[in-house]
Order: sequence, then C-alpha cells, then structure tokens
Amino acid sequence: MSRFWSSAVHALEPYVAGEQPNVPNLVKLNTNECPYAPSQRVLDEIAAATDTRLRLYPDPTSADLRQAIAARFGLTSEEVFVGNGSDEVLAFAFAGILKHDTPLLQPDITYSFYKTYARLFDITVEEIPLDANFRVDVSDYNCPCGAIILSNPNAPTGTALPLEEIEKLVSGHPDQAVLIDEAYVDFGAETAASLVPRHENLLVVQTFSKSRALAGLRVGFALGQRPLIEALERMRDSFNSYPLDRLAQAAAKAAIEDEAWFIEIRSKIIANREMVTAELRSRGFEVLSSSANFVFARHPAHQGADLARRLREQAVLVRHFNKPRIADFLRITIGTVEECRQFLRAIDQII
Ligand code: PMP
Repeated sequence: MSRFWSSAVHALEPYVAGEQPNVPNLVKLNTNECPYAPSQRVLDEIAAATDTRLRLYPDPTSADLRQAIAARFGLTSEEVFVGNGSDEVLAFAFAGILKHDTPLLQPDITYSFYKTYARLFDITVEEIPLDANFRVDVSDYNCPCGAIILSNPNAPTGTALPLEEIEKLVSGHPDQAVLIDEAYVDFGAETAASLVPRHENLLVVQTFSKSRALAGLRVGFALGQRPLIEALERMRDSFNSYPLDRLAQAAAKAAIEDEAWFIEIRSKIIANREMVTAELRSRGFEVLSSSANFVFARHPAHQGADLARRLREQAVLVRHFNKPRIADFLRITIGTVEECRQFLRAIDQII
C-alpha cells in the first residue's frame, strides 16, 4: 500500500499465475506449458528477423500473421485480431465487448483471470455452476445477461463441449456477444471458428502458448466478424498500438504454417495424457475426462493441498486451487513421457 496509489490500484485483485521457480531438476507441471521445443522453423524465423530492422517499429496491424491465421481457419484477415498473448486479447474483449448493464455469465469454475478482468473493468459477473459432473450445461445459460464467456475445453477441469452445444448457445443469444476461449482446443475439442461466418455475436479466442509451444513469445488471437474485431482494434489503439513485436510476428507466422510439427506434438501430448489418466485411475484417482494438455484429478483419501505440498517436496510442481468445490483436485499439466513417469513415481511414494 502506498499513498501514491490511485483508488483504482487499491481496488485491484490481481490474478495469481502459477509459480515459475528457478529450481534445478524440477518437474514443472503447473502452468500448462508445452513440454516439447517449438518448431525449428519458428526458431529460424526469429534468427532471420533479428537484425538492424529492430530499430523500426513493427507492423502495427500484424498483416502477414493475420493473413496466415485467416488462411488456416478459412476466414479473411479482417476477421482476425492478434494480441500480446490471449490474456491481452481477453482484456480488450472484456472492456470492449463483454461489459454491459446486465451481468456477464461465466461458469463458477473456470479460468480465474476472468474475474480479475471483470473487476478491473467494473463488470458484474453472474456465475453459473458447473453440473455435478463438473460439466457446462448450456441450457443453464438461458437467462437474461449482457454477454457470455466460456472456456472450451474448460480450465481447470479440461472437459469440452461439442460444437453443436456451442452453436446452440451462440444461436440462443443472438443479441449478446458469446466469447469462446479456446486456449486448449487443439488437444481434443473442436474449434468454433467455422461458426464465425454464420454468427455475428461469436468471438473465438486462441493462443500460441500451448499447442504451438510458444508461451514465452506472447501471441494470442481472436476470430470474429468485423464489428467485434473492430471493437478489439479500437481498444488496442487506445492502449498500445504495437502489441506484437517484429520477432513475435515472424515466429508466430512460421508456427501456424508448420502443420507437420503441430500434428506430431499434439498427438504426443494426447498420448501422454491418456497414459497419465489411466495410471491415475488405476491408483484410485477420479480423473475428469480431459480434452486439454492437463488433467484434473482427486483422490478419495487425500486432500488436494496436502498432495500438492508433498509432490513439491519431491520437486514435482502441480497446480492446486484453494477454492470451493475443487479444493481436493490437482491440475496436472501433461509433460514428456519421462516427466509424467516422474510424477507418477512421486504419487506412488505419497499414496
Ligand atoms: N485462457 C485460458 C483458459 C488459459 O488457461 C490461459 C493460460 N493461463 C490463457 C487464456 C492465457 O494464455 P496466454 O496469455 O498465454 O495466451
């Protein structure tokens, strides 16, 4: 606290990200990063872009990158917005699209940054409980609201809705914006990008942090029709006109174009996830069926906080949320096969 703080700073409740400790030989399964190296083409593009042109500002519109993303999703580049990580894209969407006089609907258990943004931008949120199986039921969202945000697959549960359910939600609210946060969609769910041309109220948000192994580059994007994309552009140009640097633009373009790398890495992570799921179940864990690069699991005889602490003592870091309904769960990022085995060995020591 300081007398130099504005009232806005006093009122903030900042998001707390998973820790990034500098501990040797740590098995780091706490922030849903990709355990494999990014595409070599990405690294080559960064090297090629690292020259005296860095004295110049980057393309403020990231035109080449937007064109590459648009081509991948069968959209036009005017229907693509890029930002400094999907967190920044989400921030612009909260301020520019999701803030209305009636409440924003979101699940009671979801990405906790949403509530931080809602508070920052003074948006009233109404939480819709996940059902008893920790799943979203879209019929629960049939109530008056200003906008809706869902993560699909949801975080930290990992469960996904089929595309038909997403379309039902979007077409059931033609006068409200519906934001689908697809940070983890590439690990087993279906993107709603194909619905964009039919639904003017839909905004799909994705990231390069997970399925492109580029969390350190900070690139995210949104897909939507012009009025929604224009809202994001207006927000950006009132905040920071150059959110993506030269290296990020070049590297992200190479990443979205390297389909062979993408298919290989995605299938490795899915295979590791199925292995971890089966191994945990055989040890008595309840594991929600995951379409993401993490699993959400609890053991009937062990408290979540206790398990997380004892794993940490063995240099295995997982995420625990001390929150109602999910305090006994652990969110375990899927690592390499060896990391997954180290995690399971540590679990065997504990239980
Ligand atoms: N959405 C969800 C559901 C997430 O879990 C994350 C990662 N913490 C993000 C968005 C943001 O990812 P990034 O800013 O790295 O794109």
